[in-house]
Amino acid sequence: MTDTDPAPGAAAKTPRKTPAAKTCDGPALIEVRNPGTGAVVGTVPEETADAVAAEVRELRVHQPEWEAIGPGGRKAWLLQFQDWLIDNTDRLATVLQSETAKPRVDALIDPGFAADLIGYYARRAAKFLADDRPSPHSPLARVKRLTTVYRPYPVVGVITPWNFPLAMPVMDVFPALAAGAAVILKPSEVTPLSALELAKGWAETGAPEVFTVVTGAGATGAAVVGNADYIQFTGSTATGRKIAAACVDRMIPYSLELGGKDPAIVLADADLDRAAHGIAFGGMFNSGQVCISVERVYVEAPVYDEFVAKLTADVKALRQGLDGRDAKHEVGALANESQAAIVQRHVDEAVAAGAKVLTGGRRAGFGTAFEPTVLVDVDHTMSCVTEETFGPTLPVMKVADEAEAIRLANDSVYGLSASVWTGDRERGARIARQINAGAVNINDVFANLFSFALPMGGWGLSGVGARWGGANGVRKYCRQQAITVPILPTQHKELFWYPYSMPKLLFALGAMRAAGARGLRRLDLRALWKLKGGDT
Ligand code: NAD
Repeated sequence: MTDTDPAPGAAAKTPRKTPAAKTCDGPALIEVRNPGTGAVVGTVPEETADAVAAEVRELRVHQPEWEAIGPGGRKAWLLQFQDWLIDNTDRLATVLQSETAKPRVDALIDPGFAADLIGYYARRAAKFLADDRPSPHSPLARVKRLTTVYRPYPVVGVITPWNFPLAMPVMDVFPALAAGAAVILKPSEVTPLSALELAKGWAETGAPEVFTVVTGAGATGAAVVGNADYIQFTGSTATGRKIAAACVDRMIPYSLELGGKDPAIVLADADLDRAAHGIAFGGMFNSGQVCISVERVYVEAPVYDEFVAKLTADVKALRQGLDGRDAKHEVGALANESQAAIVQRHVDEAVAAGAKVLTGGRRAGFGTAFEPTVLVDVDHTMSCVTEETFGPTLPVMKVADEAEAIRLANDSVYGLSASVWTGDRERGARIARQINAGAVNINDVFANLFSFALPMGGWGLSGVGARWGGANGVRKYCRQQAITVPILPTQHKELFWYPYSMPKLLFALGAMRAAGARGLRRLDLRALWKLKGGDT
């Protein structure tokens, strides 16, 4: 990939429509509600399949120039957008709160996280997308200069869930843009407003028209899958399965970031205060609506009582409510009523089967909010331990030892992430290698999420592929192209071209065996000569 470094604006030509200017004539409208108050905070169109197809056609017009300006040209635009994000943090947080009822602190994290991620990929894309010059594997291949080039898929479709309406799109849209792809984003119909702000900001910076947002529910998402060249999906395992099938049908690549049921293992040698604080945060952040939130806890028997007491105290101390612009609470509401119903069902089923609620266990009295909940006397027959809850519950189990903790941690269809709490870091790292999950944090939660150099991907039903991981974060949006260029002056014919000749073949086979075989076979000319056959 060459980097021609044009000035910002070089690829922006025609005046463009902003998402805000989209007309609502025709398509049905979706009402967006604040889940904490029930108030309608916006309406967005339910875009039709035809509208999605038209948007993708438009992106295809602009993408070649976006690819042509190279990572340096794109970096200039991406950093301009990063400036916009930073300058608009306060307003973006307010929009985000309006559609999620997140605490103010949580809402302010999203734009900051987004700016950090964009900076990482904007600055490093040139290095990550640089041509590879692999060394030839055999003497025969040495006559060519070998190059692997990374060329973007023209249009990447990004489909996102409702739990982080600003950060979640950014996590995939901007690496794809840095790769040189154009991007069509379909945010969740529950929380589309923050994503529309992103598109508005992109337009305000005057950047090329290579990023667009379409709003709507599943049918609009399916239309994105039906038109884009690569699909990056984040959401439930059930929807991920449908998307994978649709991608296979079109023979297009995809990457799926799906659900989780992340275990935390607390060993007897752990700093129990840190473990309790970390697990309370890891289970309750964003009301537990985090794909990598702690959803089950295994504690070694000798420290079980002490740990449970500390965790319960931490969870009880959380302040729940609606923040507005003042930061007064740690926990807000759930995204919608169906989410609240899942949490209530998991708690009710556990209690009916003999579990005890140590704190929480019921609706919090405003909007969709559910109280931060600690459950004990639970086991692997209960939905609160086996199904993804995606809510503020922490079921805690006592285990005999490390081996039982690992066995139970791995007893899940999911494998997104996990945490191990121990006073012995090397022991933690050793245990991590026995856990079937895409990420394991020792004495911490979410640490991998803030390290873009690491891959973030799920095992099992938690996903296919991964986002980020340094160079992979942009290379995944590229097709690899192999280019060979002769090094030596070329003859009229290559060795293998017609007409066939046994001496030429034996020469080639001899070179291949000398380079690739082992022992006597490398140089056994007699065996080669026997291949000649006949009397030639
Ligand atoms: P969801 O699967 O219901 O919806 C996700 C997105 O897919 C939405 O935009 C939706 O409109 C769209 N969609 C629905 N049907 C579709 C179809 N047939 N074709 C194309 N698009 C379609 O998920 P959700 O309820 O919005 O989000 C919660 C889930 O997301 C949880 O399971 C959570 O674990 C998961 N999640 C995973 C990660 C991760 O990185 N692994 C991150 C956040 C959330």
